[in-house]
Amino acid sequence: MSATILSGREAADALLNELKPKVKKLDPKLVIVQVGEDPASGSYIKQKFISCEKVGLRSEHKHMPESTSLEELLKVIDDLNNDNDVSGFIVQVPLPDHLNDKIPQITRAVDPSKDADGFGAYNLGKMFLSTEYEHLPPATPSGIIRMLEHYKIPIEGKHAVVVGRSNIVGKPIAIMLLNRGATVSVCHSKTPDIGSITSQADILIAAVGKPKLITADMVKDGVVVIDVGVNRTDDGLCGDVDFEEIEKKASAITPVPGGVGPMTVASLIRNCVNAKERQVSA
Ligand code: NAP
Repeated sequence: MSATILSGREAADALLNELKPKVKKLDPKLVIVQVGEDPASGSYIKQKFISCEKVGLRSEHKHMPESTSLEELLKVIDDLNNDNDVSGFIVQVPLPDHLNDKIPQITRAVDPSKDADGFGAYNLGKMFLSTEYEHLPPATPSGIIRMLEHYKIPIEGKHAVVVGRSNIVGKPIAIMLLNRGATVSVCHSKTPDIGSITSQADILIAAVGKPKLITADMVKDGVVVIDVGVNRTDDGLCGDVDFEEIEKKASAITPVPGGVGPMTVASLIRNCVNAKERQVSA
């Protein structure tokens, strides 16, 4: 079997093209706050601005020094919350070490109506309730859903197995799939014999951050594989699944890079546009 390669670039471009008329009409603005110089963040932010440009979205980079204190960051967040010209904003993670354990407090400080990453409790709670309440859903999980929709991959009635239970990917994608009629299993670092569960998956979502953790013997023929992992190795970037071997068994699979990453960016932009739409109608 030769798997369909699920191109995030193609699916993201389709979403961005759909958004263009709304961007033109509403003229929203996205702000990305960066603290410090994490090199991976630098490249993610660059991708986000390239996509903003593609769709004609106004954007601004607030780059603060590594030494920024919690109080200084909270002040910037407060200013963005109160700036009527700003439709949505994000604080790029990871943050420098002295701020990393303050992420819950930083996330809480973001006005839910401008929470373009969809990380805050209000937007996560709405996503939890049902698909109808998804307004600013978390960007990576909603990008995965859009990718499945773009390639017309059915979710209802399927067994979806999610490996990873982070608050930004694993847990929310499990809920979003559940709310769309999948039967969902979630595995994590304490799950014994992960392969016995992943091998039952019709749809497998790997969101761990461990290169090639999922091997071909852990999946069944015909599985749809969404690889969220981004791992920097001596051989370059790779995902959480052994792409070369699993591609031979899967019916469809995302590449790394070029799979989930562009969908995350496009979802972030969609959230910013939707935020502005709600703000003008309020
Ligand atoms: P995270 O917060 O570190 O969570 C990792 C999850 O994997 C945890 O739930 C952990 O379990 C689980 N885990 C760790 N080792 C495991 C093992 N051996 N077997 C099974 N589960 C294991 O990571 P994250 O933020 O969700 O990100 C996951 C990966 O996706 C990273 O590579 C990240 O860079 C990537 N990512 C990509 C995008 C994108 O747009 N492409 C977006 C976000 C994240 P415990 O909970 O038990 O510790």
